[in-house]
Amino acid sequence: GEALEPIRTRVVVIGAGQAGLSVAYYLQRLGLVPGVDFVVLDRGPSTGGAWQFRWRALRLGTAHKVNDLPGMADLGISFETGDRTAPARDVVSDYYDRYERYYGLEVQRPVEVTGVDDLGTRILVRTRDGASYETELLVNATGTWGSPFRPWYPGADTFAGRQLTTAEYEDARDFTGQDVVVVGGGTSAIGFLLELDGVAARTIWVTRRPVDWVDQQELGTALAISAVAEQDEAARAGKALPSIVSGTGVPISRRNRAGIERGVLVERGMFVSLEHDGVRFADGTFEHADAVIWATGFRPELRHLASLGLRTGEGGLAVARGASQTDPRVFFAGYGPQASTIGANRAGRVIARQVLLALSARRP
Ligand code: FAD
Repeated sequence: GEALEPIRTRVVVIGAGQAGLSVAYYLQRLGLVPGVDFVVLDRGPSTGGAWQFRWRALRLGTAHKVNDLPGMADLGISFETGDRTAPARDVVSDYYDRYERYYGLEVQRPVEVTGVDDLGTRILVRTRDGASYETELLVNATGTWGSPFRPWYPGADTFAGRQLTTAEYEDARDFTGQDVVVVGGGTSAIGFLLELDGVAARTIWVTRRPVDWVDQQELGTALAISAVAEQDEAARAGKALPSIVSGTGVPISRRNRAGIERGVLVERGMFVSLEHDGVRFADGTFEHADAVIWATGFRPELRHLASLGLRTGEGGLAVARGASQTDPRVFFAGYGPQASTIGANRAGRVIARQVLLALSARRP
């Protein structure tokens, strides 16, 4: 049939997680009208950003602190006082839903952006259902959940058991009575090991580098600041982002200490290959496995922007304060140093201001 006319707007925000919502909140505060001057598109079926897809057992506060969105206090809700016994995915989806409605942010969903075309001064944003948006500026806030990173090891295709990533993990009970290998040195791997304890027959924890345990109950501010600085440096230089856990280490919370004492949180070095029914280590030892869980992190989801050619030769994006250093029409919210709920909030503030400046500079 005939292609639909593109919908014209000034700013398209892709993604309605913590970063996209924070940008939308500040754009509105600075006088832009949601649904008219800017449009927020999200492919998820529901509110909650990536949180809506996280596994059931994940609770508010078991991983890190989840910061409130800007202006959330006006609704009388806070993650600080949110239900810590309910799945985090339910609480976050519910609070985001109320937030979007309270501020009238008019998020369009499910709308998946499949690609963009450079029209010169404007950008055409194409979506899966055929609708398109012609916009002056683009704010990408697509997070990382859609791009789990899975390293390749020899024999991966011969392993007969189940292999899955963090994004596919749903419930420890799916592994009842099984031998499970958990790969990765971050918070997700640790969460899985603790959940599988007493449910799986046996867990084996493998990490590429020894886990950097930090003798603190929670992630300290100093560590968080240095990890964010590391991310910022890489982003400004257009380098691929370092893993977050490499910058922060892992706090020995009460829960983690108990796991270490029970022998559940004791890692060994990485295996060298997978075989039909297990994994082989460098010293020749073999461990039987029914499943391998790759809790090996995520990469920024950027496929839909490929045609803009923003990737550097170093495998990253050049981004400073959320602004692409390559294309002045493009912003990245939640990228690198902004990839936490607190970073996403700041992203909203700094990006919205720059968007307003860029729009006023474009006025004839
Ligand atoms: P997301 O929440 O991922 O939102 C991105 C949105 O973009 C999604 O809704 C997605 O549907 C949409 N999208 C993606 N691609 C497209 C497309 N092509 N078209 C349309 N829409 C698209 N941080 C904390 O501060 N505290 C924590 O406790 C914490 N726990 C975490 C636990 C896990 C397991 C993980 C993986 C991360 C955790 N983080 C935590 C980091 C967390 O991901 C960020 O803090 C924050 O939620 C990310 O927000 P975001 O808006 O950048 O991304």
